[in-house]
Amino acid sequence: TAVSTDSDGEDIYTGRVKSTSAEEVAMLMDGARRVVIVPGYGMAVAQAQYAVQDLSNILESKGITVEFGIHQVAGRMPGHMNVLLAEAKIPYDRLKDTDEINSTFRQTDLVLIIGANDVVNPLARESDPSIPIAGMPILNADQAHSVVIIKRSLGPGFAGIANPLFAADNAMMLFGDAKKVIIDLVVSLKSS
Ligand code: NDP
Repeated sequence: TAVSTDSDGEDIYTGRVKSTSAEEVAMLMDGARRVVIVPGYGMAVAQAQYAVQDLSNILESKGITVEFGIHQVAGRMPGHMNVLLAEAKIPYDRLKDTDEINSTFRQTDLVLIIGANDVVNPLARESDPSIPIAGMPILNADQAHSVVIIKRSLGPGFAGIANPLFAADNAMMLFGDAKKVIIDLVVSLKSS
């Protein structure tokens, strides 16, 4: 494969990663008709599910459709994301599994990835056996018009490999702890 899978990923990230701010993402969201949220392990670590509920509510109050793309192995235990989102009273019918949501990404204005990494890693599409997640079905978040990724760094997830999505032309990193960043996003959306 032409892309490095080193966990530091230096050659695939250098000069290609764009970072953004809560204010900028709030503006992008204000212009969107539909937003898909993809949660992962980092949402659980940050305990960001209640902030995510606030975010979902404010987007809906602005007439923006919000759906959640739930990967079967997101997090660290089966049903991890479902449990957290149910705890925060996100309506069950907003949660879509991989098969259901994947055909919709090309028509999606904005995907907000919250502490997910391996489950959106396009390297899984490669057949190279040295890639630990090769052949794993992923959420095709990279196909959306714009992709915003919330995490604290460019560090890898459970599989320990770099993620070329972070360096994609349509992607922007919103660096920080998921809960803090989402609270900032809600504040920005309230004042816009
Ligand atoms: P990943 O483990 O791929 O990535 C999680 C990301 O969350 C990290 O890259 C990390 O980046 C970020 N993160 C950690 N803490 C925070 C924080 N406080 N705020 C914001 N971001 C944070 O998670 P996925 O859910 O995408 O994938 C799950 C992985 O776990 C898969 O490889 C799966 O196979 C594996 N797994 C799943 C099990 C299950 O049953 N669900 C069981 C066992 C393994 P950073 O450090 O930069 O913040």
